[in-house]
Formats: sequence, structure tokens, C-alpha cells
Amino acid sequence: MWGKQPGGATILARVLSLLPALGLAVMSGCRGPLPFASPAPSPQYVLVVEPADLLPGEIALGTLWVVGGPLPTAASLEACGRRQPMVAVGNRLAAFLAVPASQAPGEVVVTALLQGAGVPERATTTIRVQPRRFPASRIRASPSQLEARSEEKLREDQEKVRRAKSSSAPRPLWEGEFILPLDAPVSTPYGFIRYINDREVGRHAGVDLVAPAGTPVVATNAGRVVFADRLHAAGLTVIVDHGLSLFSSYCHLSRIAVGAGDTVRKGQVVGWVGNTGFSTGPHLHWSVTVGLNSVDPASLTGPRPWLGSLPR
Ligand SMILES: [Zn+2]
Repeated sequence: MWGKQPGGATILARVLSLLPALGLAVMSGCRGPLPFASPAPSPQYVLVVEPADLLPGEIALGTLWVVGGPLPTAASLEACGRRQPMVAVGNRLAAFLAVPASQAPGEVVVTALLQGAGVPERATTTIRVQPRRFPASRIRASPSQLEARSEEKLREDQEKVRRAKSSSAPRPLWEGEFILPLDAPVSTPYGFIRYINDREVGRHAGVDLVAPAGTPVVATNAGRVVFADRLHAAGLTVIVDHGLSLFSSYCHLSRIAVGAGDTVRKGQVVGWVGNTGFSTGPHLHWSVTVGLNSVDPASLTGPRPWLGSLPR
């Protein structure tokens, strides 16, 4: 899918155009001095977002390449009314971008806001958001089930999650492709408009995978456990930090296999499928967020070459 994106060739051309300034040759077999004169290049601050063509609710990676100028001392990536701090990774700055599920289709300007002496105020690029419709998802719940998601309990849960996600490794902890935490059928995909007893309560912020209680659930990628405890609505929950404020959560577990602070490998068991919290049957609610903003986990799994573009 990545290779077919209309913006792909342009991004490649822009990055390749920077290579001479970086002192790198595109052609193989170069020996000795590079075969072009190299006058002092003017500083370039180029923002690249991949993929540049995506759907509401999907994730993208913004990378700021700096050539011939100082690295910004601080930077943030801004788009769709959201802002995410950028992190220095090797010779570039990077941040994930969570496109809201409610984003209207069309061209969206992405801005890197930069700070530092001799650094421009901003670098911009554009992405294209395609139309996407989210169907309704209706569930019935008893008054005792609904108690798990009273306003007060949801607030308590949100505060615990906010604290768990308040810091993240400033480098990629993930390695290669993201995998499914459980090989099972999807009952409710991401973004569906949720109705409980015919009352609209918001969007489904993850993917529900249905499997018998006790089925092992594995980490979608390597990272560090930042939460392993009980929440009112999400039940027994594990949250893993993958770096750069990218978090994955595994909810309604029957048992938890890891503790806060543990390092986990991709594919390592973090718990077992259950029916804890606000849940109408054994299943895994799997969610992925950038900071506190949810994205469709399906936009992260499988071959995503741009995820491998950052040095670990
Ligand atoms: Zn769910």
C-alpha cells in the first residue's frame, strides 16, 4: 500500500535531493572525492510525513530532516488541531501523528514548529485524508454492568491512564513490524460509533478480538510496561510504551503476566483473554494511542516500511 501512494515518489525525491548535502552519494562505486563541487549549502529543514495519503483514525510518522543548519532545541508536530512533541532520533527529529477519526477528507497541512537559535520558525508539508465512513455498533448492558462506567469511575480510569502515559522513551523501542496480539476474529473494528442501550457514548477506540477466556495475549511489539493493573471500565489492563509516545493497551484480561516497569519482547505473553470490567463476553479490547489520542491499530500492523526508517 505504501508504495502505491501518490506522494511516495515526491517524498523519495525530496529526501534523495538532500543526500549530496549530507555528503552521501546515491550511486554505488564512488571512490575518492565526490564527483560534484560542494559549495556551502543553505540550511534546509524538510518535513516528511509517511504515509502522506491516509484515512481518518490512521497513524503517520513525521520526520524533520535538518541539513547544513543547527538542530532545533525543541520542536513539535502540529496537524488536525493536535500537537505532539518531536524527539531527536539520530540526525533528525520525529513524532507520530494521530489523524482524528472525525477528520474531514481533503488536504491537511502538517507543521513542525521549531525553536532554537538560527532555526526557522516552522517547516510544513501536506497530507491527504481520504473519506471514511464508520458504521454504528450497538450493545445492550444491564444496570450492574453499566456501573463499571459511571462518570466518576471513567474519570478515575482516565487519570490513571493519563499518568501511565505521561512519559515515554525518547527513542524507538519497537523493532520491525507490529503483530496482532491475538489471532482471532474481530467483533468490533476501530472507530465504530458506539451505542449502549441505544444511547450514543462515543467511538470505539480500539479493536475487539473475540477468543475464549484464557487465550494468551502477546505484546504487539517490543517496549516497556507502564501499567499493569485493574481499571473500572477496561478491567485488568496492560499498557506498553513503544517509544515516541506510542502506546498499546490490552484490556478485559482474566490475568496479567507482567508488571509495571518490565521490558517486553514482541510476541511475549502479557496476559490472558478475559471478561473483566465493562465487557459483555470474553474478548480482547486492543487499543493503540499516540499520547492520549487513539488510532486504528490496523494502521500499524503488517508491512509499514516507514516505521523502520528511524534508528533504534
Ligand atoms: Zn472494545
